[in-house]
Parts: sequence; structure tokens; C-alpha cells
Amino acid sequence: MAKIKKIELLIVDLKPKVKRTDAIQSFDSQQTPMVLITDADGFTGTGYSYTIGQGGEAIMSLLKETLVPRLIGADADSIEKIWRDLLFSTHATSVGAITSLALAAIDTALWDLKARRANLPLYKLAGGAKDSVPLYTTEGGWLHIPVEDLVADAVNAKAAGFSGSKIKIGKRHLAEDRERLKAVREAVGDDYDIMVDANQGFSLSESIRRAAMLEQFDIGWFEEPMPADDVAAHAHLAKHTSVPVAVGESLYSISQFKDYLHAGAASIVQVDVARIGGITPWLKVAHMAEAYNVSVCPHFLMELHVSLVCAVPNTPWLEYIPQLDDITEEQMTVEQGVAEPSSLPGIGIHWDKNEIDQRRMKPFDFVLTG
Ligand code: MG
Repeated sequence: MAKIKKIELLIVDLKPKVKRTDAIQSFDSQQTPMVLITDADGFTGTGYSYTIGQGGEAIMSLLKETLVPRLIGADADSIEKIWRDLLFSTHATSVGAITSLALAAIDTALWDLKARRANLPLYKLAGGAKDSVPLYTTEGGWLHIPVEDLVADAVNAKAAGFSGSKIKIGKRHLAEDRERLKAVREAVGDDYDIMVDANQGFSLSESIRRAAMLEQFDIGWFEEPMPADDVAAHAHLAKHTSVPVAVGESLYSISQFKDYLHAGAASIVQVDVARIGGITPWLKVAHMAEAYNVSVCPHFLMELHVSLVCAVPNTPWLEYIPQLDDITEEQMTVEQGVAEPSSLPGIGIHWDKNEIDQRRMKPFDFVLTG
């Protein structure tokens, strides 16, 4: 038994390396709450989550005032027990984004700690299904990018060994989206996957209309066509198009994924380890999707997801969007467009303490010992 003796909280404001724009937002900040948990034997695990844009302060408040005080003295190895206790302690604010993002930072720290104690990399501790995963890139497909640059990025990605590119859609006129996709498809040829993402921007009728256009270009998946809480609309769309429908980055509980899978409303699930509340529920969603013969292609957070997609079998892709370059000493290993998880004990992220210190939002620093 390894009792928790110390918890440290901090938050880092990370700026994206490139401008990121989609159908509903411009992505100008990644507030990154971090939790460091130390046990009585001196092992420390580090977890994190993130916001796109603002909201990090609310996560820090929930962590400091409600969740972290429940951790002192708990058995760090009893992760499921801790996760359940924390969820119940916040039942009036869950299911919800802030609660899930706070739970995830703690849960990820506990898995990092457990993997370090076990002297295993996370991808083996959590299942050990494979040693690498192909990448597709989103970083050159943002909605504001001119068509010639979209094409150049996809061609360069293919030459670098990537297996696919994701292009944001949601221009006012269907013809504009069509022109962009046509140009990319003609440039990369047939042996390269193109995914599209509408970031919940369409109505049901417009989703059906645009899906018919997408079928011309052999699109790998149509991501978040509509508001994510409308399962029935996605089920309706899935019955009216041959393009796989992808959802999950805006879902915050296991049951929400169950509803999508049960309704046949998702062909691909994109469960995000931070927004679902940590590694504990992420693995449950991945295994549940396997039972439905559905693939898991997680959203964002490639530095952590690389270990999770290699822990389970039904994960054909990892999304390439670098998030942590500014605050890590080493980047994720990529060889010819294929990512490899770290083989070192823990979640495999090499934090750079000096760079973190320079970016931390110091009024939110908090330490609890017991
Ligand atoms: Mg998306």
C-alpha cells in the first residue's frame, strides 16, 4: 500500500504553435492544469488536462477546494476506488466538462505513479496491444488556411510518411468545402486518407447534404457534423451516408458513448482522455467500442494518447497536433509518420521543469501535504 502524502497543483498557459481555426472557434490558448502526486515511498506521478481557450481557473478551483483534500492518505494503487470517490464527491456538477477535466488530471497522475511503481511504461501496464501507431495530421488543415497551403501541407505530410490529413470544413457554401477537398484529393492521390471535421457546425439537413458531397472524395470520416448531445440526429445521418461518422471529443461520460454505440450513431469514437475524466474511463470506452467493432481514434493530446492507443487493439490512428513541445525535454517519437510510445516507466512524458516554471500561472500554485 502506497499512501498519498503530497499533492502539488499548478497551471501552465500554453500558446499553440500555429493559428488553429475551425467552424466554431479560434484556438488561441491551452490552459494546462497539472497535478503531481507523491506517495509515502517517494514515487511521484504527474497528470494533466487542458482547456481550449479559457476555463482553467475553474478546474483549478475544483481541484484545490474539493478533490485534492480527499486524496491525502488514500492508497495510490486503488485508482478505481479514488476515481469513484471523487466522482461521487462532485455528483452535483457531473456529468460536466470542468469536473471531467479536473478528474482527469488526478487520474492521469495516479496512472503515472502506478506505472512508475510497477517499472512499466503505461502502454504495457494498460494492456500492451502494440508498439506503434500510424499518424494522421490535423495541424495543416485548419479552416482559415488557403487552399494552396492545404494542398502543400497534405502533400508534404504524405511525403513524410503520414497516412492521412484532416481538413476542417464548414465554409458558408458547400462549394467552398468541395473545392478545398477536391484540390487536396487530386494532389495526394487515392492512397492517402482525408478526414473532415465540422466541429458541430451543421444542422441535420445540412449534414446530410454535405455528406453526399463528401462521398465523392472517399473521405475517411465525417467528424462532429452536429451538436454532440444529439445522438438521434447522428444516428439518422449515419443511416443516410456511406461516410463514417466520428464523434467523441465533446462527450464527457462512459454512458454518452454507450448511447452513441447502441444507437449505431458513431462509426468511430474519439474519446479524449482529459474530457472523459482520465485514463480509467478512457480504457472502458475503448474496450466498449471494441465490443461494437468500432475503432477508437482519440482527440488531441497525442503525447498521452500514444500510450493509450498502443495499450488497446482497436486504434488505427493517432492524431498529430503537438501540444507539449514547449514544456517537455523530448518530443514524441515519430518515424516515417508512425508514432511510438515511450518505453520508460510512467506515462512517457518528459516534463521540462524550467520551461513549466516560466509559464506557470503562479497565483494558482497549491501544495497539500499530510
Ligand atoms: Mg474535432
